[in-house]
Amino acid sequence: MIEAVLSIGGIGLTAAVALGLAAKKFAVEVDPRELAVLEALPGANCGACGFPGCGGFAKALVEGKANPNACTPGGQGTVEKIAHILGIAAVAADPRVAVVLCQGDNRQAALKYRYVGMGDCNAAQRLAEGPKQCPGGCLGLGSCARICPFGAIEITDEGLAVISRELCTGCTKCVAACPRNVIRMTPLSASVHVLCNSHDKGAQVRKYCAVGCIACHICAKTVPGAYVIEEFLARVIYEHHQEAGAAVEKCPTHCIRDFARGYPPGSRFAAPTVPVGGKSAA
Ligand code: SF4
Ligand code: SF4
Repeated sequence: MIEAVLSIGGIGLTAAVALGLAAKKFAVEVDPRELAVLEALPGANCGACGFPGCGGFAKALVEGKANPNACTPGGQGTVEKIAHILGIAAVAADPRVAVVLCQGDNRQAALKYRYVGMGDCNAAQRLAEGPKQCPGGCLGLGSCARICPFGAIEITDEGLAVISRELCTGCTKCVAACPRNVIRMTPLSASVHVLCNSHDKGAQVRKYCAVGCIACHICAKTVPGAYVIEEFLARVIYEHHQEAGAAVEKCPTHCIRDFARGYPPGSRFAAPTVPVGGKSAA
């Protein structure tokens, strides 16, 4: 009996010593700067930086493979902390926010059929490419809102997704979740956007949406250089967004929105108070 106990104890002791030696031999040295950077990050693990979580981003930063301003939820404060830890220059953050390029809610946009299936945009899209006649409009079933870690997206009573410019951190999760490719990342400083995602010709758009872009070119003629029309759809040229506001009132279908003046109809978000175009929007 005593021999058996001693023998088991011996085996245990040998295993413990072997494990201890192996742990020492194969220990992975972690750069203390990586831990300090990880501590400085917001810990949202949202993937906005393009790396798998804050840990992956911290490692890439220390290895010089990432830019500190890629952490959009952290903002300029985080950029400065990381730059201090790594002893590099703090490049100004370029905040970006997601925008739903559609305001054709259930009052404005016509349906092909009445969808009564699962309340999920991807499921609806699989059924004859969605219930809306517009091939690119928001389906309003909230797949984006459910995935947003920051509660930045609301679905209006009339079935339109709207994103808060104050709550959005630019993590891009909603962009990946939307089957209509109707959410775009845009500079926060740009408050004017063409809220349409249809590349159909104007005559066709008029048949299914009261607030869609009909590619009439009035915006581009009003402010040359601030708009471009591509495949029957106007877009703001964000490098020149400061001038884009001059065309808002000229658009015959009112599909250009200046968020500095408020969100699309039906939204409960108050007009943004974050700086827009270099001045307060409130
Ligand atoms: S709205 Fe989109 S980009 Fe903005 S925080 Fe939510 S999921 Fe991220
Ligand atoms: S933006 Fe896309 S994911 Fe969000 S409700 Fe509209 S269609 Fe669905």
